Amino acid sequence: MRILLVDDSRAVAAVLGARLNAIGHEVVLAENGLVALDVFRQSTPDLVLMDMEMPVMDGFAAVQHIRKLEAERAGAWTPIIFLTGSERSEHLVTAIDAGADAFIPKMAPPAVLAAKMKAMARIAALRAELTQANLKLEALANQDGLTGLFNRRYLDLRLEHIWNEALRRGDSLGFLMLDVDCFKKYNDRYGHLAGDDCLRAVATAMAVVVDRLQVGRVIQSGFAARYGGEEFAVVLPLVSCAELTQVADALLAAVRGMAMIHEGNSGWGVVTLSLGAAWLPRAEGDLPAFIRQADARLYRAKQKGRNRGELE
Ligand code: GH3
Ligand code: MG
Ligand code: MG
Ligand code: MG
Repeated sequence: MRILLVDDSRAVAAVLGARLNAIGHEVVLAENGLVALDVFRQSTPDLVLMDMEMPVMDGFAAVQHIRKLEAERAGAWTPIIFLTGSERSEHLVTAIDAGADAFIPKMAPPAVLAAKMKAMARIAALRAELTQANLKLEALANQDGLTGLFNRRYLDLRLEHIWNEALRRGDSLGFLMLDVDCFKKYNDRYGHLAGDDCLRAVATAMAVVVDRLQVGRVIQSGFAARYGGEEFAVVLPLVSCAELTQVADALLAAVRGMAMIHEGNSGWGVVTLSLGAAWLPRAEGDLPAFIRQADARLYRAKQKGRNRGELE
C-alpha cells in the first residue's frame, strides 16, 4: 500500500516509516495536517496514519478536510488511523467524530502495526467494490431494458436539467421526438419478438448516428432515449437550427437505410420513422410546451404520409 504518514516528530516518522517500509509499504511523509492535505491530493494514498497534535493544522482538522475532499470525489474513501500517544479518551472520541476509522499506539509492535493495516486494506477493498456495484446499479437504473438506450426516467431528469441550464445561459437546445411508422402492423405481421428486434435495431441505428455526429463534431453533445413503446427522443444541447435539421435527416436516413422489410408500412415497404422537432430559442413557453410542440409536429409528419420530419 501507499501510506501517508503524518507526524510532526521526525523521530516517530523515521521509526514508523522504517517499520512500514520493512513490511513492504511505500511511505509518503507530511509534517503537519496542512502539508498532509497537499500530499493527499497529489499522491492519493491507500491509507493515512495521522498524528493528533501538530503545529499549523492538527490531525482532527486534517481528517475533516480529507473527508470533505472525498465527498467531492463520490464514493472515494481512504482508511484513516490515528496515532495515539498519551492522549485522553475524549481525544479518541473527537477523532472518530472527525472521520477517523481506528487508532494505533505510535509505538505498537511491528506485527500489530502490520495486522492493523491489513484489516484496513480489506475494508478499503470492500468499500471500493461497493462503490463499483453502486455505479453499475445507477447505470442500470438509467437504461432501457429492451434497447439499451437511456430510459424515460433518465430522459425526464436530464432534459429538465438541460432545459433549465439552456434558459439560464441563453443557450440553444434541440429536441426530437421519433416514432416508428405503422409499428402495430409490424407486430401483427411478424410477431412481437420480431417487433422487439426491430425496436432494438432502430435504437442502435439512432445511437450510432448520435455518436458519429458527436465524434465528427457536428454536435457537441446529445443522447437518444426510449420515450416509451415505439417512441424515441433525442436531446441535443447547443445545436443550431441547421445542425438540428442535419441530425434529424441523418436519423431518418439511418433507419430507412437498414432496409428492414415492413410490408404493412403503407407505401414505403421498409421500417421508417416519423419525426417532430422543437428548438430553443425559437420555442415559447415551458418545457412541457416544448415537448408538446415536438409531439404536434410528429403528428403532422404522420398525417403527411410518414417517413419524414417536421421541423417547424
Ligand atoms: P403510427 O405510424 O401512427 O405511429 O402507427 P403505429 O402502429 O406505430 O402506432 P400505434 O400507437 O397504433 O401502435 C404502436 C404499437 O407499438 C403498439 C404496440 O403494441 C407496439 N409496441 C409498443 N412497445 C412495444 C415493445 O416493446 N415491443 C413490441 N414488439 N411492440 C411494442
Ligand atoms: Mg505530534
Ligand atoms: Mg406511437
Ligand atoms: Mg408508431
